[in-house]
Amino acid sequence: MTKEIIQELKNSGLTGRSGSGFPVWQKWQAVKDAPSNQKYIVCNGSEGEPMVFKDGHILEKYPEELINGVKTALKTIDNSQAYIYLNKDYYARFSQTLKNLSGNMPVILFEEPGGYIAGEETALLNVIEGKRAEPRLKPPYPTQAGLWGKPTLVQNVETFYWISKIAKNEYQGHRFYSIEGDAANKGVFELPETDTVRQILQKTDNYPDFDFFAQIGGGAAGTIMLAKELDQPVKGTGSIVIYDRLRTDVLDLMKAWAEFFVNNNCDKCTPCREGLYRILETIAGGKEKILAEKQSLDELFTALEKTAFCPLGRMAAGPFKSAMAKLL
Ligand code: SF4
Repeated sequence: MTKEIIQELKNSGLTGRSGSGFPVWQKWQAVKDAPSNQKYIVCNGSEGEPMVFKDGHILEKYPEELINGVKTALKTIDNSQAYIYLNKDYYARFSQTLKNLSGNMPVILFEEPGGYIAGEETALLNVIEGKRAEPRLKPPYPTQAGLWGKPTLVQNVETFYWISKIAKNEYQGHRFYSIEGDAANKGVFELPETDTVRQILQKTDNYPDFDFFAQIGGGAAGTIMLAKELDQPVKGTGSIVIYDRLRTDVLDLMKAWAEFFVNNNCDKCTPCREGLYRILETIAGGKEKILAEKQSLDELFTALEKTAFCPLGRMAAGPFKSAMAKLL
């Protein structure tokens, strides 16, 4: 079973559905091979980006698949203890069901204290250990030294769902897409990961009949795409947010992203803490200020992408860059 499931994960080509795109089998192999008499498995259900609800959908509709995925990991990785880490809302709604389904398996339900950064894969290890929610330096990776310094497998809810499907021979290369915003038929849909954004919108009766743009791959961190750019698959998180161009104030939207990042970064590093604050100030000053300070904004974006300590900071520049290039 052990050897087979890792081989099956490899054959499936499954990559982490948190948006990392990292091959799942490599993490499993690394944790399995790590020399330790105690290992941990963490199922990350912190889903905290605005307008992204796909993990919540899985927790609500398919909790038994999630538990089967965790059970598969527990069986594969010797001497392991599992944590299911849920944001406050998901903990209140789903922890009892998951507890019941876990039976006597070594599974602990853990309530996240709140804040988007507490969902980052190393920050959540700190949180479980009772420390401040801030990311850790990598390497060492959690697979080598995670919870309490022990090898730890961290995968998100959707990834465990697909692991369950692979273990049952039911995986067909699909993923979940959260479709939100001004879409006509909002919700969470399961479709092939090779589908383009345009195909996804058409198949789900969500292709707009009005002038629109979309934010793809993250609720706040996603990239802006125009209608003519939708012939490509979703990269990053399975999220598509539709905006009606006539009804959307682009500056308000950019300000909302900046406020989200300012309020949710952990203050650990300067490019993110100070840079995002400066970006918010500039955007709040209006279009003329943004255009007048474009060069310094570009420098802040580059600093974020190249020097921010963790993915939250590194990904934060993307939406602003694409919105300024395509919408202002
Ligand atoms: S990039 Fe932002 S969220 Fe990440 S460590 Fe730095 S301050 Fe914290």
